[in-house]
Parts: sequence; structure tokens; C-alpha cells
Amino acid sequence: MSAELQHREVVTVPARYGKAVRLNKGEAVQVINLHGTQVVDCWAYNASDVSEYMCMEATRVWNQRLNPRVGDSFITDQRHPILTLVADTSPGVHDTFMAACDARRYELLGCTEPHRNCHDNLHEGMAELGVMLPHGNLASFNIFMNIQVQPDGITLKTLPVVTKPGDYIILRAEMDCYVAFSACPQDIVSIQGQGDNTPRDVEVRILTAGFPQVNLQGPWVPGNAA
Ligand SMILES: [Zn+2]
Repeated sequence: MSAELQHREVVTVPARYGKAVRLNKGEAVQVINLHGTQVVDCWAYNASDVSEYMCMEATRVWNQRLNPRVGDSFITDQRHPILTLVADTSPGVHDTFMAACDARRYELLGCTEPHRNCHDNLHEGMAELGVMLPHGNLASFNIFMNIQVQPDGITLKTLPVVTKPGDYIILRAEMDCYVAFSACPQDIVSIQGQGDNTPRDVEVRILTAGFPQVNLQGPWVPGNAA
């Protein structure tokens, strides 16, 4: 499939840092786990009004799923689809529960020096595009992050990623939007793969054609077939 993908830009998200891109409606962004070991936090904003943001709570209501599968969309706080997952070559393990890491999180983990963090990376990535966000947002889509719901149905277990080098997802833009990514700097809690807790670079490609097209699904309504 990848031979057919056409891109207009390639962006490296360096380990521990963040980058953002601007997508036109109908374009897509491919997020490539180059080393197969990295968690990538992701946010999205309406390009014409960045007060409208991709909202994990509204997304779970829309899809009636804890985490997205191919064909599922991500929904804004204004209940509009903003991104749709149209391809996923990874095992499909992602997370919508866990807050992005921030400065306070590392203090709580015992760090006595400032630690790079995803929440600052969000603001840094957007600022590089000249966009100031009206407020922070800890509710990221955590691509490749392995948070397992335990058999009791309520307990969560934090585990390393299960992705292979080169695995990717593709997110299609359902409106003109900004999408921000952070190659999560977490090196204290074991979430990055290979057991070495070492953040690594990932690659983001803005795709213009060649990616799978799936129909946009409407919101879940009681009584409709799942
Ligand atoms: Zn993080």
C-alpha cells in the first residue's frame, strides 16, 4: 500500500520533542513508528477556530469504543468529525484514556530537574506554526500506547508498546485542521518498547493521495446496528 501513498511533506518528530502540521480537508497524515517503540501523543484543532479541539470524551461517545479502530472518527468538543482513522498497520493498540505527560507529572514521578513533556511539546509544535492555543489539553490521543483494560473491566494496566518498526497509522482530515504530535519523552514509566525506556524519533508524512478511503460514520444512536 505504501508505494501508492503520495505525500507533500515529511516531518521528523525528534525523540522528546513535538511538531505540528496543517492539513487541508481530505488530506491525511501518516504517523510512522520508525523504531517500533515510541508512543506518540496527538491533538487536533479546527484550523479556522482553534478553540474547537479533538475531544476524546466525545470520540468515545460517537464510536462507542474505548479506543479507535480503522473507520472510526475523532470528534471535536463541538461534536464534529475532525480526523478519521483510515489505515493502521500496527496491532491496533492505542489509548484515549491517559493524560499527556506534563511538567507536574514528572515532579510527581520524583524528578527534581525540569523534564521535557508532551504538554509543552504540544504548545511548542503549534507555536512553530504561529498558533497560540487558548488553553492546554491533557486529553491527547496516545498513538501506539498500550493501556490494557483488566478483566475486572475497570482497572487499567500500563504496558510497553507492541508495535513493529515501520508500523503506521493514517488519519484523514475531515476539516481543515492542525494536528500536533509529541514523541513522548516518558523515560520513567515503562511505556516505550524494547524495555529500555528510551524515546525515539518518529516520522510524520502529509499525504495527498493513495491512502484508503472509508465512509464517514455518523454518531452512534441507540437501536442502530453496531
Ligand atoms: Zn508524554
